Amino acid sequence: MKNNTKGLTTPIQSDLTGALVRRVIHPLWAKFTHPAYARYMQEFERNQYLHPDDLRKLQMLRLRQQLIDAYRYVPFYRHRMTQAGLTPLDIRTHEDLRLLPVLTKRDIQDHQDLLVSSNVSPSKRKQDQTGGSTGSPLQFYVDLERFDSRMASTVRHNAWAGLRIGDWHAQLWGPRYDFGDKPDPTPFWRQKFLYRNISLHTADVTEESMMQYVEVLRKYRPRSMVSYAQSAVRFAEFCKANNIHDVAFDSMIVSAEMLPPGKRQVLEETFHGKVFNRYGCREVGVIASECEFHSGLHVNADALIVEVEAAPNLPSGMGRVLVTDLLNRSMPLIRYEIGDLASLDTEMRCPCGRSLPLIGNIQGRTSNFLRLPSGGMIAGPSLALLAADMRDVRQVQCIQPDPAHVTLKVVAGNGYNQRTEEELRRRMQPYLEKESNLTIVTADSIPSEPSGKYRFVKTGEDTETPTAMSR
Ligand SMILES: [Zn+2]
Repeated sequence: MKNNTKGLTTPIQSDLTGALVRRVIHPLWAKFTHPAYARYMQEFERNQYLHPDDLRKLQMLRLRQQLIDAYRYVPFYRHRMTQAGLTPLDIRTHEDLRLLPVLTKRDIQDHQDLLVSSNVSPSKRKQDQTGGSTGSPLQFYVDLERFDSRMASTVRHNAWAGLRIGDWHAQLWGPRYDFGDKPDPTPFWRQKFLYRNISLHTADVTEESMMQYVEVLRKYRPRSMVSYAQSAVRFAEFCKANNIHDVAFDSMIVSAEMLPPGKRQVLEETFHGKVFNRYGCREVGVIASECEFHSGLHVNADALIVEVEAAPNLPSGMGRVLVTDLLNRSMPLIRYEIGDLASLDTEMRCPCGRSLPLIGNIQGRTSNFLRLPSGGMIAGPSLALLAADMRDVRQVQCIQPDPAHVTLKVVAGNGYNQRTEEELRRRMQPYLEKESNLTIVTADSIPSEPSGKYRFVKTGEDTETPTAMSR
């Protein structure tokens, strides 16, 4: 950014602090709080250039170990494999993986306790949850060490976009849920001297908050922006409409939502940098990212196996995405149907020399904004965690005929009652305004869109049009 007249942090000071964070503070922090991180960091750095055959061998080794553990210590998988007449030793190749049944979100909701490994101590795992782009709340467990390897994957993929540890980056990201009641974009000390991130929450995207974001960005001048795709687009449109030309990023990493066709160009023109598409989810972290050649998304293949499987009633050339996490033991996700569609094309090539396989044209992560009577908008993914930790709620969807009316459609789980409804109403309140009218209705199911996908927010004038990743 050019006009930094009010900034307290000069580029030189920022670079020196960044180098200090990169070389001293972050490695020390990682050593004491995330002991496996450095090991994975080194390994993943090497793995991206392995010979493809060696990469597949590594995947197979990790898959075999995962399956043996799942069979021994996770009742759900032992039962499933027994029912299918299989043991882990029957899975000898990547193709054999197809012999195992698909794990659905419904399976996780219905058999959560049976999916937990008896071999991982509660002190070595952490519970997490997601509303997901599908709006189905899920709880799951992640090994503490898996958080380390996930962080190492993210750092590797960030480096492809030129974002290093110690570089300031903005995060136009995350629900109010993660920020508390009074989100403030000003970085606190840990952000300044460790994470180097500026959190610009997407729960309340109003003109006023975006102006506040502009001021913070002018002050700190982050090199990169990591963002929900549609939030980035909306922010770019705001900057254009208000003749703000001094907000710039070398790179913009966009994920969690589809980048609508043509919007890559809008982002690159507005912020004078390159867009890097990323695909991931809360359950397994980064799944795939674009490298500097933008030839599709390289799969995080040393930690995951990603299958794109043909299935009936899908748009031509598309398959459902199934993910197997090779490193998480406390609740293994094996052939997990994440709820997205991707191109079945396996012929993509990238000139960067990385052997990590490519996927492209991911479809179906389209989420809308909830519109407020005052003209404000709330990003769908911000609302997606609304009922994530409520076991008496299976699925929710916001229907909006006009900005003053919101109907929350709920698929009730076991134990759903009046109190559940009151709790949902209470949780929705911070996202609404005085003039908003909220109605809660229950439904047996929430039908998906013609593309086979589900949308968290549906507005009156909306009809889903299949979108492709813009190139
Ligand atoms: Zn590449």
